[in-house]
Amino acid sequence: MTTMATTPSTRARTLRQTLDEGHGVLRLMPTWVPRTFSTPGHRLRLHPDDHYALGPGRGALTERWLASTTQADNGPDTPDGEGISRVLLLDGQMPLTEAVDILGADVIGPRLAAAGDGWPVYAKFYDYQGALPFHIHLNDTHAAAIGQRGGAEALYFPPELNPHTGKRPIMFLGLQPHVTPKEFLARIADFSSDNHITELSQAFRVRPGTGWNIPPGVLHAAGSLCTYEVEQASDTYAMCESVADDQPVPESLLWKDVPPEHRGNHQYILDMLDWQANTDPDTLRRHHNPPLPVTSTRHDGLSERWIAYSSPFFSAKEVTLAPGATAPLTDPAAYGAIAVRGHGRFGPHPVAAPTLIRFGNPTEDEFFVSETAATAGVPVTNHSTTEPLVLLQHFGPANPALPIP
Ligand SMILES: [Zn+2]
Repeated sequence: MTTMATTPSTRARTLRQTLDEGHGVLRLMPTWVPRTFSTPGHRLRLHPDDHYALGPGRGALTERWLASTTQADNGPDTPDGEGISRVLLLDGQMPLTEAVDILGADVIGPRLAAAGDGWPVYAKFYDYQGALPFHIHLNDTHAAAIGQRGGAEALYFPPELNPHTGKRPIMFLGLQPHVTPKEFLARIADFSSDNHITELSQAFRVRPGTGWNIPPGVLHAAGSLCTYEVEQASDTYAMCESVADDQPVPESLLWKDVPPEHRGNHQYILDMLDWQANTDPDTLRRHHNPPLPVTSTRHDGLSERWIAYSSPFFSAKEVTLAPGATAPLTDPAAYGAIAVRGHGRFGPHPVAAPTLIRFGNPTEDEFFVSETAATAGVPVTNHSTTEPLVLLQHFGPANPALPIP
C-alpha cells in the first residue's frame, strides 16, 4: 500500500482537493482483516488465490472492514493500521483516521466533530463457513477499564452476499431464562475440554435479508451467514466457548480484554454480562430487527429500508435504485457506503459491486460521504437495464432521520 511521502500541509491540501473533486464523497480502498479462528466462507468476492495473502500464519482474510477508523486487534503481532480504511487521494492514499483528523466537521459534520470522538463507528462484512464462538462485547464501563470503547453491534445478512448460508445458519443469542450464574460460571471455567456452552443458550434460525440488534454484554454467536455488521469503533470481546465449529478457541480469547489484575477471575466475566437481558424470555422480540421501510422516500425508482435502527450508537440503511433510475440520495448525517449489487454513478464517481477482487487492488464499491454532501443529496444513477443498484450505508450515533430515536 502506498502513502504519499510528503509534508503534512501537502497531504492536507491533496485531501481537500480530493474531497472537492469528489463533491464531498471520498473513495475508499478495500480493507481486509485476517482472523486465525474459523474457516472462510468464500463470499467476500475475494479471489480464491488471495484468502491467505498475508501468509497462513496470520489466518484467512475472513473480514472486510468498511469506513473504519478502528485498529484491528489480532494480538501483539497485529500490524499498525490493520483494519483502518484508506482514502484514495488524487495522488496516493491516506488512512481514514488521518483524513477525519484533518477535515473534522467538513467530513463527519459539526455534531460528531463537537463530540470530539472522531468517527466512532465502523461496519464490516464477515464471512465464516461455520459459526463464530459464543461471545460478548464489552459495555462502555468495562471497555474504559482497558482504554477502549464499548462494542454494541447490529447484524444484517445481505442476500447479495449469501448465495449459500454456510454450515450452521442458526444464531445463538442469550441464555435460557432458567440458567443460573453458577451454571454459566461452570462452563467458562472449563476451557480444558469442549465446554458445550451453547447448550445453555437460546437459538434462532436466521436467513438472508433479516437483522438483529446485539447490545454489549449479551452473549451471541451469529451463525454461518455472510454478515454485514455495524458497530461501535471497538474490537473488544470475550470468547466464552472453548470449541466452536470443531476448532479449539484459546482460553486467551476469554481474557483478551480483561484487565491483567482480573485475568483468571471468572466472576469478572460474569459481571461483564447484562444478566437480565441474557435471560429475558422475550429475546426474539427484543433483538430481532426486521427491515423497516422508509415511508417518506421521495423519488421514483428509489427505495430505502432501515436495517439497523435500535442502537443509540449507530444505524444503517439499505438503498435500492431501480434499473435506469437516477435519484438524489439525501441523508442528514455522514456515512460509509458499500455497493453490494449493480453499477452506475455515485456522485461524480463510478460505482460497481465487484465480481472478484484481488488483494491490494482498489474497487469502485466503497465510499465515505461527508455530512455536507449527504445533506445536499448525492446524485445516484443505475446504469443497468436489468439489475437494481443496491448500497448499504452506515451512520454514526443519533442519526436525525432515524424513525426510532
Ligand atoms: Zn459479536
